[in-house]
Amino acid sequence: MKNRPAYLDALLAAWYAGLVVVPINAKLHCREVDFILEDSGSRLLISDSTPEAPLASTARQLMPDSPNFVPDGKPLAAPIDRASTSAAWIFYTSGTTGRPKGATLSHGNLACMSNCYLTNVERVKAHHVLAHFAPLSHGSGIYVIPYLMRGCANLVPASASFDESEFVDLVNRHQGLAMFLAPTMIRRLVDHLDATDTALSLDHLQAIVYGGGPMYERDLRDALATFGSRLVQIYGQGESPMTISVMSREEHASYAEASDTSSDLQSLVPVGRPHPQVEVAILDAEGTLLPDGEEGEICVRGDSVMLGYWNAPEATDEALRDGWLRTGDIGRMEADGTLFLTDRVKDVIISGGTNIYPREVEEVLLQHPAVHEASVVGVHHPVWGEEVVAFVSLHGTVEPEALDQHCLARMARFKRPKRYQILDALPKNAYGKIVKTELRKRLASQQEENPT
Ligand code: ATP
Repeated sequence: MKNRPAYLDALLAAWYAGLVVVPINAKLHCREVDFILEDSGSRLLISDSTPEAPLASTARQLMPDSPNFVPDGKPLAAPIDRASTSAAWIFYTSGTTGRPKGATLSHGNLACMSNCYLTNVERVKAHHVLAHFAPLSHGSGIYVIPYLMRGCANLVPASASFDESEFVDLVNRHQGLAMFLAPTMIRRLVDHLDATDTALSLDHLQAIVYGGGPMYERDLRDALATFGSRLVQIYGQGESPMTISVMSREEHASYAEASDTSSDLQSLVPVGRPHPQVEVAILDAEGTLLPDGEEGEICVRGDSVMLGYWNAPEATDEALRDGWLRTGDIGRMEADGTLFLTDRVKDVIISGGTNIYPREVEEVLLQHPAVHEASVVGVHHPVWGEEVVAFVSLHGTVEPEALDQHCLARMARFKRPKRYQILDALPKNAYGKIVKTELRKRLASQQEENPT
């Protein structure tokens, strides 16, 4: 279903009836929908697709005979009880690093997530309103629970996709609005407000909770200048949704203060501190705890961690080892508990035997005034193993040589991109995340066409 109030009715009704919900993003391709329906073994599909929409073949079979659910006036049966360890939600990861996997979350996991939100992310009051700008099928759709627990209204914008003008209009018309946005949506908003000189009633804005992908230094500075201390960052993944760490408003305020007085633009934005409800540790490949400040894999354990991947015991054993969820993210934790996420293990480029973190190169590229978006990937190189390629979209025009000079002045020679590809916009998934697999595919097909 697209974002619409009926989605929330269906979600809550399914839980009332003791069912397990598999949210499916309405923007997925029908083959992706088929994959999720088959992999999850779903028995019923609730969809708002009209007959003309290209519903997947499995999807058509799972639609109920009667296309409309009409209340029959009979009193509701009592809700079906489920244990906190029973499956409630199978969240298919967006597959930015491979085939989507169904992270199975229990009712207890979702309760932990709500608890984390209410105690560490936002002090929700009854007059606050949660606006769903991100797809409801995303982990942030679960935020409906903490807001209902506080008796708040939920607001579903009319546009099927994120629309900057609608955002401004809704914020100006409603008080106490809070919402989850992907960092790329915040960038779009900042650019829209700058370009159109639109007035935004900041007093109405309760909070912008963001996460799900990297917030670059440049973008955070601009967001802080536009939205002030209303920003809260969360870090999580489908396997522990929105619940690994949180960077509070206060931490944003200190970050803004520190960045005003420092010209060091290359430092990474932290992802905050672990939620007190979960344990976060930096472990090496053997599972040994690493000292403060040392880089390793970010691992999580606690009530937020999934039961496992649906129908994928090997992938589950790989992800859940010795009681820890191995996130596949590289990071470090400072002595005061501040967590930094360097990059995803699968995105690290190994050139000449040395690790290069794409995020570091992206941060530098984004400091160039002509660069709008940047994403860096590795491509096979016969001598070095891999070489660095940068994809950028621009504000105006700039020659690759100028970008090379910019990088040379700011990073080690071996880390700088050896090639640039300029696109109108970088490919993003339905959650607004840049899809590196698309960029790699593009490079592979170019290499096939032109092997020299
Ligand atoms: P797949 O796991 O199938 O490749 P995916 O990467 O899109 O798909 P998600 O669960 O949607 O999976 O995304 C989780 C990942 O997003 C995290 O592991 C982390 O790398 C990144 N991420 C989430 N929040 C943040 C954040 N605040 N800052 C930086 N990166 C983040």
